[in-house]
Amino acid sequence: MALILKNATFIDWESLKFTHTNLIVEQINRGEARFIRDLDKINISPEDEIIDCKGKIVTKSFGIGHIHVYSALARGMPLLVEKPAGFQEMLKKVWWVLNRAMDKDIIEASALATALACAKSGTTFVVDHHSSPAFISGSLDIIANTFEKVGLNHLLCYEITDRDGLDKARQGLEETNNYLNYRQGLVGMHASFTVGEETMKRVSEIVEKYNSGVHIHVAETLYDQQYCLENYNRRVLERLNDYGFLNSSKTLLAHCLYIEEYERELLRNSFAYIVQNPESNMKNRLGPFSSIGLDGDRLMLGTDGMHADQLQSSKAAFLIGQAYDNIDFESAYKRFRNIHKYIDKNDFDGDGKNNLVVIDYDSPTPVNRNNFLNHFIFGIKSDHILHVISNGKLIVKDRVLQGVDEEEILGFTREQAKRLWSRMKEISKTD
Ligand SMILES: [Zn+2]
Repeated sequence: MALILKNATFIDWESLKFTHTNLIVEQINRGEARFIRDLDKINISPEDEIIDCKGKIVTKSFGIGHIHVYSALARGMPLLVEKPAGFQEMLKKVWWVLNRAMDKDIIEASALATALACAKSGTTFVVDHHSSPAFISGSLDIIANTFEKVGLNHLLCYEITDRDGLDKARQGLEETNNYLNYRQGLVGMHASFTVGEETMKRVSEIVEKYNSGVHIHVAETLYDQQYCLENYNRRVLERLNDYGFLNSSKTLLAHCLYIEEYERELLRNSFAYIVQNPESNMKNRLGPFSSIGLDGDRLMLGTDGMHADQLQSSKAAFLIGQAYDNIDFESAYKRFRNIHKYIDKNDFDGDGKNNLVVIDYDSPTPVNRNNFLNHFIFGIKSDHILHVISNGKLIVKDRVLQGVDEEEILGFTREQAKRLWSRMKEISKTD
């Protein structure tokens, strides 16, 4: 069985070359999407699915460089603190409480809500950073299985941290070790300020064992740097570098807001990738991010769990970057697409040529190779995503998830959101 996209306008995501063609999409991992000029010359079996893409754009689907499944059910939750004094208080009194309130069903519902939103926005590859201190063992498998049920490819990790005590840190290390034994993933840490020397040493042993990289929040706040200077007499990136984490092209550093010139140089000369999360930084009144002095080829975009719409993240990076960063259409698009280079360089599964989106973009003006990036920033939105193909299989058709029942999913996520919120209320009472 094959999937055939006929009459497509195919845009090569790297060269932006437009080709009017038919495509045969292989339904295997790392499969191809081949151009076929004349469909009459090939054998089409009755089982093959043919989709007419006349007037539609077909291009590579998207990837998210940093997201949190755990925040998927936070939308609309009651306030636990009226006015948090700052980001640190917000973490302690809201997000870490939410993490502690997660159990098996809440994790599954959060993963389903994330998967649904990712798929419908054109994303087929998700890099998640997970935390659920009351349910650590097996949590990554729940997320992986849920993503696979919807048809998403993934690179997961558990946020190892000492913030809930050393026993929880040990469980986080164990979960990571078990998971990496049979699945692709990363070694997660929450942030430098919640990971002590002993735990970080254990992290580096796992990184070495699996030839992996770390996925960690870096200098999201000034506090992260101050804490590091006071306790380790070094800045955060120096500390991570001393453990050798920056030597891996698998390493993902989220945020990197409060970094000095010599840390930028350290990053430039490293192999690590940086993930910018523009809207999250704005929401938390942090930042702004600046790419000055960094290697633009190792700079990606994430949503930090605020949503799952990478087209929106690109627009946000472009807009805030007009005042605070050196960003234009080309570099915004590059940050949006660098995740494919990251996946390819590190030989991860799940981002073959048979991962595609079909975009129903009814532009009032001409679209061509020369002006495509202008349309990318100002015109194309996730609302235009019509079909999504992951590993050659249609996972979204006519804006509807395939193989799973959206209504059923949303019923389950709403029910679990209520449970999560009431558990959070109970936990914050006893804090
Ligand atoms: Zn994050």
